[in-house]
Amino acid sequence: MLLAGAIALFAGLSVWAVWNSGRRVEELQRRLTDAHLARFRLADEFQRRLLALNNSMLRFAVRREPALWSEFERASHDLDQWLDEQSSQLHTERERDLLQQLNAAYDSYVQAARQVQATRPPVEVHPQVFPDITEFESKADRLLALGQQLAEAHGEAREGFLSQANAQLGHLRFLLFGSAGMSLALMGGLGWFVYRDLIAPLRTRLVQSEVVLERQGKLATLGTLAAGIAHEIRNPLTSIKARLYTLAKHIKGNDAALSDTMMIGDEIARLERIVQDVLRFARPSEPQFKVMRADTPLREVHSLMAAALEQKQIRLTLDSQTEQLVSMDVALIKQVLVNLVRNAAEAIEQEGTVTLRARASQTKLNGRVQEVAVLEVADTGKGIPPEVEKRLFDPFFSTKEAGTGLGLSIAARIVDKHGGALQYRTQVGRGTTFGIVLPIAQGPVENPDP
Ligand code: ADP
Repeated sequence: MLLAGAIALFAGLSVWAVWNSGRRVEELQRRLTDAHLARFRLADEFQRRLLALNNSMLRFAVRREPALWSEFERASHDLDQWLDEQSSQLHTERERDLLQQLNAAYDSYVQAARQVQATRPPVEVHPQVFPDITEFESKADRLLALGQQLAEAHGEAREGFLSQANAQLGHLRFLLFGSAGMSLALMGGLGWFVYRDLIAPLRTRLVQSEVVLERQGKLATLGTLAAGIAHEIRNPLTSIKARLYTLAKHIKGNDAALSDTMMIGDEIARLERIVQDVLRFARPSEPQFKVMRADTPLREVHSLMAAALEQKQIRLTLDSQTEQLVSMDVALIKQVLVNLVRNAAEAIEQEGTVTLRARASQTKLNGRVQEVAVLEVADTGKGIPPEVEKRLFDPFFSTKEAGTGLGLSIAARIVDKHGGALQYRTQVGRGTTFGIVLPIAQGPVENPDP
């Protein structure tokens, strides 16, 4: 869920960032079009046209040719029209105001030109006797000055426009870097998450029975020898136990001696367990299969062990997620589960939880992918360090002072006899999960769940 949420968030943010950047770029493009930039050249264009007009007027004033006058009139009409068209292109208040002043000054400029045309020229050309031309020139000067002001107003507008465009670009850069940084952070987080929750657990080792059994085969001779000794030890142990019982009766009232007999009793019990384990390992019993719900042994182990573990601050929980049927020897599978739960509890240093879980899955078993039921024992203990992992299934390998090192070897053998496999995954400091993988049964229930 978390992964899906993060991906959705990431996708949403990316789409938003791209859409937003696209919109801003489009806006900038629109603003940078030729038509938009042309307004900044308006004053230059006006000054150029006006100078040409002045020249043609002065040429007419000197030569007085009607053709020159009509040329002036046509050009002045064109300039008037051009001025009217430009108002739509201006954006700042100052530019528009100046254009208005230009329009008014232009009218008096044309008026002054007409005055020059209407006055009859004296025979001798002298500027002082040409007050009309002087008037015309002063109008032209005013127009040029206004044109200059318009050019300055353009400059200001251009500055404003450029700083706006720069701000937009800065914003865009921030957006792009921001989304790139966010993508990296999200990717990193996602990678870490995927590693922690998807890849690390894949370190699950399927202890394919063949490998285990091959290693166990090499130790079979040792097992047979051990079984012989175990058998020989069992009888004297039984008689020592019986004598101890009568001895305890005789020394009633002597507390020190009584506590000694209790200690001897505990040690005998331990020896018996070792003998039993060795015999189970060396002479495994044949399973008696019955079809039943996969979670049956889990329920029984739960009610058998929950109370005792509770006293050691360990919670034993049951989580049954399947109603699948499997064919099994429930006593043997229970024996495996008891062993796994005991190991799990021993791996928890202070308080913690051991979860018994039954779930359905699909996995490769005996060379083909099939539907399976997995009976899991998951603990929150210290995990299995790599050096222990290497020897985990070796018979007689134990890291515990009182361990026989036979629990997992016997478990692997029993599960193998069920056509299943024993698997585990572990993380040092986080815990271990052992799973008994059993093929599901097709037949009817022979011993229904009570
Ligand atoms: P024993 O319990 O007698 O030591 P096992 O064959 O059951 O023998 O286990 C072998 C070793 O594997 C243990 O000594 C222990 O170091 C390790 N081990 C088994 N189960 C767990 C577990 N759930 N968490 C941590 N270590 C484990």
